[in-house]
Amino acid sequence: MSLKIGVLGLQGDVREHIRMLQLLGVESLIVKLPEDLSLVDGLIIPGGESTTMIRIMKEIEMYEPLKEKIEEGFPVFGTCAGMILLSKKVEGSDQLTLKVLDIEVERNAYGRQIESFEVDIKVPQFGDKPVRAVFIRAPKIVKAGNEVEALAEYEGTPVFVRENNVMATSFHPELTDDARVHEYFIKIVGEFKK
Ligand code: GLN
Repeated sequence: MSLKIGVLGLQGDVREHIRMLQLLGVESLIVKLPEDLSLVDGLIIPGGESTTMIRIMKEIEMYEPLKEKIEEGFPVFGTCAGMILLSKKVEGSDQLTLKVLDIEVERNAYGRQIESFEVDIKVPQFGDKPVRAVFIRAPKIVKAGNEVEALAEYEGTPVFVRENNVMATSFHPELTDDARVHEYFIKIVGEFKK
């Protein structure tokens, strides 16, 4: 089965995700317009600035069709700002989100003093070899619904989650050479395509 994965190209670290997909030998497309969504089997929402990304999404009228598509089972994977966009709510703010992942997040909650840091985290699904997690002004999950599966935790808080067709990481797997997180997403995309 041949899959095509989109990377939302409105703002943020788009190229790093494309590189990851190339590394895995998966066809990719930078998604810039609402109509591009019908050309891909799943979508990665990159890190960047969540407020800017959601504003552009509204401006180009991509917000509604994307939200609807995700609610119908279209697989999405959000990293960092992408996780914020997928979440139900941003703590202490009325910032608009897609509300397709049952989590509440606190923005810029990790590394306020040190801006960014890296740490090895265990992902039981991936076996013994840990994943190098790069956190850059990352969102912290402060609440998660029962349907949300924690695939990895850092200091007792989930940092890699999945709820059916929606997956998200607080960290940036696209900034390493370890493609297992992306590979996992592609597996989900394959399951939903069947
Ligand atoms: N702090 C950014 C936001 O709130 C996210 C940072 C990132 O994606 N690296 O949108």
